[in-house]
Amino acid sequence: MEPLNKQSSLRPRYQQEDAAHDSRKALELCASLGDYQTSLTKFKNRKDIFERSVQGLKQILPIAFYAFYAVDEASFDIELEHCDQPDQKQYLDETLEALIEQGLVAQAFGEKRTLSAQSKDGEHALLLHALTTTSKTYGLFICFLKNRVLEDGIADTLTTIIIKSTCYALENFELYQLIDLKNEELTAKNQQISKSEIIYRNVFENTGNPTIIVDISGKITFSNSRFVAFSKCTREELQSKHFSDFIIKKRLNFAKLLQETQHQDPAKPIEYIFENRLHEKRTVFLQTSPLGIDNLHIISLTDITALKEVEKKLHFQAFHDPLTGLPNRILLQDRLKQAIRKRNRHPGSKYAVIFIDLDRFKSINDTLGHHVGDQLLIRVGEKIKDCVREMDTVARFGGDEFVILLQDIQSELDCERVSRRILEEFQTAMSIQGHEIFMSISMGILMSQAQPIDASDVIRLADMSMYEAKKQGRNKIVYFHDIADKEIEKKLFLENQLLKGIQENEFFVQYQPLMDLQTNRLFGFETLVRWNHPDLGIIPPNSFIPIAEEIGLIIPLGQKIFELAFQDYVRWIQAYPWVKDLCLSINLSVKQIYHRDIVKDIKSMAEKTHLPLKNVRLEITESIFLDNNEQAIETIRRLKELGISICIDDFGTGYSSLKYLKQFSIDLVKIDKLLIQDIPTNMTNFSIVSSMLELCDKLKLQVMAEGIETNEQLKKLKTMNCGLGQGFYFAAPQDKQMVEDSLLKGRA
Ligand code: C2E
Ligand code: CA
Ligand code: CA
Repeated sequence: MEPLNKQSSLRPRYQQEDAAHDSRKALELCASLGDYQTSLTKFKNRKDIFERSVQGLKQILPIAFYAFYAVDEASFDIELEHCDQPDQKQYLDETLEALIEQGLVAQAFGEKRTLSAQSKDGEHALLLHALTTTSKTYGLFICFLKNRVLEDGIADTLTTIIIKSTCYALENFELYQLIDLKNEELTAKNQQISKSEIIYRNVFENTGNPTIIVDISGKITFSNSRFVAFSKCTREELQSKHFSDFIIKKRLNFAKLLQETQHQDPAKPIEYIFENRLHEKRTVFLQTSPLGIDNLHIISLTDITALKEVEKKLHFQAFHDPLTGLPNRILLQDRLKQAIRKRNRHPGSKYAVIFIDLDRFKSINDTLGHHVGDQLLIRVGEKIKDCVREMDTVARFGGDEFVILLQDIQSELDCERVSRRILEEFQTAMSIQGHEIFMSISMGILMSQAQPIDASDVIRLADMSMYEAKKQGRNKIVYFHDIADKEIEKKLFLENQLLKGIQENEFFVQYQPLMDLQTNRLFGFETLVRWNHPDLGIIPPNSFIPIAEEIGLIIPLGQKIFELAFQDYVRWIQAYPWVKDLCLSINLSVKQIYHRDIVKDIKSMAEKTHLPLKNVRLEITESIFLDNNEQAIETIRRLKELGISICIDDFGTGYSSLKYLKQFSIDLVKIDKLLIQDIPTNMTNFSIVSSMLELCDKLKLQVMAEGIETNEQLKKLKTMNCGLGQGFYFAAPQDKQMVEDSLLKGRA
């Protein structure tokens, strides 16, 4: 082994200029480390820092290799983390062992400056320095120098400076690592947030409806593109807009609107008129809901303008005769009801109903053709209108029948005058398409009655009087009071017959299959009553139901029908369990709805026969809507509570009101056979039926087409997506025996 002093002579004496050079180098290094402290991305790991430091040290000192021992701050265990000559590990460990024994390690940590030492084997001079900052202890840095002795004191001073810089570099490196980690976490979170924001934004954008978010005052804070398009504003313009800027309502109280629409019954949607920037008006339904943050609310609009227009058309059609434009029988009935009510309140107020029928109209139609017939009817309507006051109603009641309602007349004399004038008017010929036509008429008149009377009865009695006029030789006027006694007699006769018929069980029911048009499977049955009269044979319902209604016998008769149908249906379910999926439809007269015990009666009948009510459907005509009676709404609600479904019969011939369909919570709508019959050829009816189907689809109502007789009708209905159907094409009403035979064969 070479003597130490000889080894030391390997290096020339440390001169002043050397010191200046080394100091400069050390300072440059510190500066560059400082650089790294602020741009630490360049250090990938701690090893890089050590190597960088050692590179610097090497410019001042003859370094052979170095080692870094990391310290566990909790246990103070020391462990080799990095060494640029890994094969020296054992040598290093032994050296460290010796340094610990000599107390130099403890000293290094205590004094926090560079200590010089000698390796145990005397091969190397060592520099050891604890890497610490004010807050943290990293470990121990040991440099093994090529020379055995370190000659000059200046080296450890410079080393101290470098090592301190290394420590700060380490500290910053850790700090930045932490920041990186936090950054990563934040980025991940942000990504998550923006993902859900994208989802919500998409939902908001694609609700299909114009939708906005407003604050509690109604100021618009967000709007989807549909709303932008709907409002005809730009996004910038919307930023300064208030929702009420678009709603036509004097002094719209926005807070109240929110309240109203939030707790609104979906069955009674509130309509508003929306006016866009170009002053175009649309009818909308509003739906609002709180967003759950910052007192914001979502407002979503459904544009129902098209629906309203169709409804308006249907409504006009519903109340007017398409040929003459005169009020139809529904409107007439409505006005007549008002007149009756007025009369009941003020006995002094009088009205009169004149029922007019053209004599021998049919022969004109047959000889001169329908076109002339139609023109004639239009002219007759105009002629009659010319004879009455503006306030009176002239309605076309049916084919060649017209009905006049004279309101607020002083006495019978007024009515007499009007009817005479009409009769005179018809003394002159009418010139139609080159034909001179003389037309005589028969009139029946009913003056307001002292006792309470139904509108339909008033018309029926006026009609009866008109018949009497025809019988007496046409071109005549007959007053009901002149024939009343005879009529009363007739009514009494029928009343007795009906009552007897019920007691003697002369009534029976038939069932007509109801079909699911899409699957072509049996959907259920409609119950239809018939009267097997001992002398007159089978009488169809249209001939006795109106009378039974009038004299109140519809109540016991209705009960009988329920009883028969319930018994049959229960028997079928027991024999063929799949029948429990079929519905049982029963017609219910409006008079029955108004019967006090109707709900109770149906319920107890169902209990008695063990019939599940969930498959029962009651068919009611639209006339239930005419009175818009709270009692009717309540009865329907209670029936529905029992599980019964409600169906509107003969839809399209009466009110055709969507509002009522919703208000009464109707489940199914049956489109009247008159509309169905000529859909393959009549474009008007075709478009009426298809808009009805569209509307019902929007209102989530089931639809059934009545009176399907041909394959063409069926095909048309299927293309229009009509769900259910009934008619001779599938089957006529059948006796229960026939139904049982087909049930036996299994499900269609
Ligand atoms: P509705 O409720 O409209 O019953 C359908 C009527 O159309 C039935 O006449 C039926 O036989 C007939 N029909 C079925 N398919 C076709 C078809 O393809 N073409 C044509 N032209 N007609 C078809 P029905 O049995 O004479 O009954 C007439 C009306 O009497 C019923 O009309 C209903 O309003 C009333 N009605 C029948 N049974 C009852 C009942 O039990 N109670 C009450 N309150 N009314 C009833
Ligand atoms: Ca029916
Ligand atoms: Ca019907």
